[in-house]
Amino acid sequence: MTFAITAKAKALAAEGRQVIRFGLGEPDFDTPEHIKEAARRALDGRIGGYTPVPGTPELREAAAASFTESGIPTDAAGVIVSCGAKHSLFNALQVLLDDDDEAILPAPYWVSYPSMFHAAGAKTVLVDTRDDGCVLTPDALEKAITPRTRVLVSVSPGNPTGVTHSRAQLAALGEVLEKHPDVVVVSDEIYQHLVYGETEFVPFAVACPRIADRVVTVRGVSKTFAMTGWRIGYATGPADVIGAMTRFQGHSTSNPTAIAQAAAVAALTGPMEPIWKMREAFDRRRKMMLQLLEAIDGFTVFPPTGAFYCFPDIGPCLNDRTGNTPLEFADRLLEQEGVALVPGEAFGAPTNARLSYACSEDDIREGCQRIRKFVSG
Ligand code: PLP
Repeated sequence: MTFAITAKAKALAAEGRQVIRFGLGEPDFDTPEHIKEAARRALDGRIGGYTPVPGTPELREAAAASFTESGIPTDAAGVIVSCGAKHSLFNALQVLLDDDDEAILPAPYWVSYPSMFHAAGAKTVLVDTRDDGCVLTPDALEKAITPRTRVLVSVSPGNPTGVTHSRAQLAALGEVLEKHPDVVVVSDEIYQHLVYGETEFVPFAVACPRIADRVVTVRGVSKTFAMTGWRIGYATGPADVIGAMTRFQGHSTSNPTAIAQAAAVAALTGPMEPIWKMREAFDRRRKMMLQLLEAIDGFTVFPPTGAFYCFPDIGPCLNDRTGNTPLEFADRLLEQEGVALVPGEAFGAPTNARLSYACSEDDIREGCQRIRKFVSG
């Protein structure tokens, strides 16, 4: 659905319509110059051969240092680099899950998870967290666990919700999992650096030290460093899981692109100032979008503390004119007002919509104004 909305928005823009694109899940900034420069320098050297399947020693070293700095001690041998965090997650889930296993997925969820479980033959067990502020509670987790549960996916900060789990909230989940030694946590930390205000980013393995040896942590350069197209993600976790992921990758994609790995080393070891500048811009836009959406009659927004999304409940605004589902609402809003957002059905949230604030402040102002007009008729 996200790609369908994007495609329609592009088609309207090609017809000359001024489309405001709140549908995108990527930074609107370009990759910082020092990272591009590293790729240019790498091109001047010998770059044409295969690299080791789990990544170059330099990048695994840099990723290991970054994991270690955030409280997850590891070394280069404990890291596998893949073609984006999505690929790391896919590899992890394929090696962890077998036919008829169950994987617990808090909803609203990122679109790709159910398909990844399906590809592994496993069943998705959804836990609706909307009544709990999009935070998975220990009670809800306990209820969802069965003898067939193999994986819990945790995404914090979250997509589509923008909600960040606190240390205490994660620790409470860890206490439940201590009683269930067969469950492995896949912690998706792709939005690690994108938290705002007083919000603290806490890695799952750090909040839950007693089960840290059962946590696969996945991160990447895509969102933080504005490098979505470069396709570099990386993971650390139990040695047997990382080993299996490496064998799986070795027989599917082999190594990620050499030139992108060279750029990712510069991202992980270079200056963070350009990144903090982007984060400041996201924070300003977050506050602006939150305020403008909250002013729309019938919209209720979970205050986002991370990533770059607002995820309002638009239920009271759905009707025969605007559309009776978020999907119809999104379609008519795009058609009539030229504003693209992603309907909540895509994320298992049938009365919500996702708006990305990875766009200019002018677009946020204009787009929210158009939504307000559309809603009020
Ligand atoms: N996990 C979440 C929650 C995401 O939102 C995304 C990208 O949209 C990814 C993983 C994938 O990241 P990458 O572009 O590195 O594959």
